[in-house]
Amino acid sequence: MRIEEDVKLDFKDVLIRPKRSTLASRKDVDITRDYQFKWSGRTYNGVPIIAANMDGVGTFDMAKSFLRSQSGMSVALHKHYPLEQLIEFFDENDPISAWYSIGMVKADQEKLNEFIKLRPSKIDKICLDVANGYSEHFLDFVKRTRDMVPDITIMAGNVVTGEMVEELILSGVDVVKVGIGPGSVCTTRKMTGVGYPQLSAIIECADAAHGLGGLICADGGCTVPGDIAKAFGAGADFIMLGGMLAGHDQAELDLVEENGEKFMTFYGMSSDTAMTKHKGGVAEYRASEGKTVKIPYRGDVSGTLQDILGGIRSACTYVGARRLKELPKRTTFIRVSQQINNVFGGG
Ligand code: 5GP
Repeated sequence: MRIEEDVKLDFKDVLIRPKRSTLASRKDVDITRDYQFKWSGRTYNGVPIIAANMDGVGTFDMAKSFLRSQSGMSVALHKHYPLEQLIEFFDENDPISAWYSIGMVKADQEKLNEFIKLRPSKIDKICLDVANGYSEHFLDFVKRTRDMVPDITIMAGNVVTGEMVEELILSGVDVVKVGIGPGSVCTTRKMTGVGYPQLSAIIECADAAHGLGGLICADGGCTVPGDIAKAFGAGADFIMLGGMLAGHDQAELDLVEENGEKFMTFYGMSSDTAMTKHKGGVAEYRASEGKTVKIPYRGDVSGTLQDILGGIRSACTYVGARRLKELPKRTTFIRVSQQINNVFGGG
């Protein structure tokens, strides 16, 4: 048995140190990024924040709302939409706002094959999503998918260590999804004892990916706009958000009213709730690794987007980064005790 002694950090363990800046206003900051993906060769321009492929977050309505508001953000559509609805959505909306998501189950792959047969050039990016990106089976799946769609951008994960990031990139992944256990409705750390503090995972995985010309998407654990700034400062190229975008009109879920207050349910995609809804129950051999929570209804997502994008712009002005691209170069983290960070409202 081996114990790794070096300290691994989470968002709550650090703050970003302010630096001299010539920026007069947060309006002067450009928070879009331009990328060229390693394998698909496609280019990307936008605000690199992605709504997670979860019920109530990764929805058509969310994608339409991002398009309407010209926020530049995108949505990983949850994988439970039927083929006909996906076709209708992609026929009517610019694909720039959406990642088509699949898991490793055969039905997802068949649906993707069918979609591509019917609409050969409609989707430009897909998200291959499994809870544990360390299996041989997953690597084979990634390689097969890359062979099948050579010119489509592939985001895949999740992993948390550099060697697996490298392996995935060399197997054809353009963007590696990073995060095991940090999600707001995830119980993996509790149920299995497995995980990795997210800030350190981002720093280490970004380093590994960038060395090979690949990118990473930091997935899970952001609870306030400051966490998003820290994730970008740590080297994340994209950031995926679940809980921060939950509870809005765009959820396509029912509103519940109790004692005059409005709520929505939000649940992990491997929670009992999700498994019962989509698969008719929890399979015997696996424990649920997600929970269900009741969250206050927050109206239209546009107000939340303003807070998020404003927070990132402001972080850039504090360190003198005129463009989001400069944020990692201008970020120095200072370690703080949890108590101090809580005073500043850190997650
Ligand atoms: P959040 O932004 O809410 O902290 O994290 C969102 C991420 O949590 C998702 O993108 C996904 O990677 C992860 N996640 C969603 N549902 C579950 C679940 O049921 N179990 C686990 N372990 N992770 C989940």
